[in-house]
Amino acid sequence: MDSLAENTLSDHLRDLKRGVRRIVEAELEPLAREIDRIGDVPDEAWRTMRKHGLLGMRLPEEFGGANLDVASYLITLEELSRSHRMFALMAEYTSGGLALALLRYGTPAQHTRWLRDVGNGTIQASFALTEPDAGSDAAAIRTRARKTADGWVLSGRKHFISNAHKAGLILVLAVTDAEKRARGGISAFLVPKDAPGFAVTRVDTTIGSEAIKLAELTFESCELPNEALLGPVGDGFKVAMTTLVDGRLGVGCACIGASDRVLDMMIEHANTRHTFGEPLANRQAIQWMIADSAMELAATRALVYQTILAYAEGQPVGASPSMCKVYSSEMAGRVTDRAVQVFGGMGLIRGFPVERFYRDVRHYRVGEGSSEVQRIVIARECLGTGRAGRQSN
Ligand SMILES: Cc1cc2nc3c(=O)[nH]c(=O)nc-3n(C[C@H](O)[C@H](O)[C@H](O)COP(=O)(O)OP(=O)(O)OC[C@H]3O[C@@H](n4cnc5c(N)ncnc54)[C@H](O)[C@@H]3O)c2cc1C
Repeated sequence: MDSLAENTLSDHLRDLKRGVRRIVEAELEPLAREIDRIGDVPDEAWRTMRKHGLLGMRLPEEFGGANLDVASYLITLEELSRSHRMFALMAEYTSGGLALALLRYGTPAQHTRWLRDVGNGTIQASFALTEPDAGSDAAAIRTRARKTADGWVLSGRKHFISNAHKAGLILVLAVTDAEKRARGGISAFLVPKDAPGFAVTRVDTTIGSEAIKLAELTFESCELPNEALLGPVGDGFKVAMTTLVDGRLGVGCACIGASDRVLDMMIEHANTRHTFGEPLANRQAIQWMIADSAMELAATRALVYQTILAYAEGQPVGASPSMCKVYSSEMAGRVTDRAVQVFGGMGLIRGFPVERFYRDVRHYRVGEGSSEVQRIVIARECLGTGRAGRQSN
């Protein structure tokens, strides 16, 4: 559905949106069905995304990217999410998280070594902060990095790390000064999958699509050269936090894309499914579910687009990215839940898109900083109490 908020986008962004939607409908949607069928991402999906410049979108052209600004990137994520969450994740693995941190903090030698391959998906990337005893309270991480004569030694364990079972390169946050911790005592390291002492020790599937996997990583005296350090010693949280706003706005756009698609499906079903001799669309109970979904989606779009455009122009956005994340993820939960109801039994059948969207959007209220943590950030801004001593994931 077109919305008033879309009119606030520039001609360039609207053209981009239409162009990406055409690619998604013609070429990615069939691959979305294949992702669900095999529970994994087929090589064809990587090839198609690469062919259309949908990988490494934000990287400079010298590294094979499209040099897209942040607003174009986020609007593209919305369109990719209309088909399958995995496509937005592929864009993020190659343009957000590790890729963005590497672009911003990497040395010329690190750029040359990694950036092109990460940007085109030849080397898959992951971002490892969370640990069994440090999720929301990210400053409580225990993974340690000890300096040696010719490099670093990492010891510890990470879990819930997206895509790490496939990653060739992982950005790992580790404590380098236990006294300072979040205030200059945590550093970022680039860990290649063949680093001695590193292992993927467990792979979990989640409530969402089978293709989305979270891994546990173990570092047993894992040896790294000096060149593995990303950014200055002690700046690990700064490195990690550079991707924070983009990640929250990315969730906002992904939730809009998923909800927009599900609303379209709801409307089509309501118009074509007859019960008691009439289309479902004639029933007020169904109309209200559609109306509430359209209304909440429009409100989310207004908030998210306004924040994206301000952020892209370099204006201060305060806690708005947190508002976008909470509001959009909770909205997507309600819209997909209503869609399942409108589809009845069909909405519960594995392999049917509505059922998959319903499961996939549940992730968004926990990953990239939970709803509760976002509300803490928003409340601090309202109350003028600033940042607490502890960093939150
Ligand atoms: C799909 C998915 C992908 C992920 N990918 C990655 C990844 O690639 N890399 C990575 O490092 N991590 C990743 N994570 C981990 C994610 O960042 C954490 O799950 C998240 O930060 C919450 O941490 P936790 O699971 O340990 O929950 P906890 O921190 O134990 O929190 C449990 C519950 O308590 C609430 N809570 C916690 N503290 C407070 C408080 N002060 N006040 C009120 N409520 C509170 C939380 O909101 C939550 O509801 C991923 C998670 C998911 C679900």
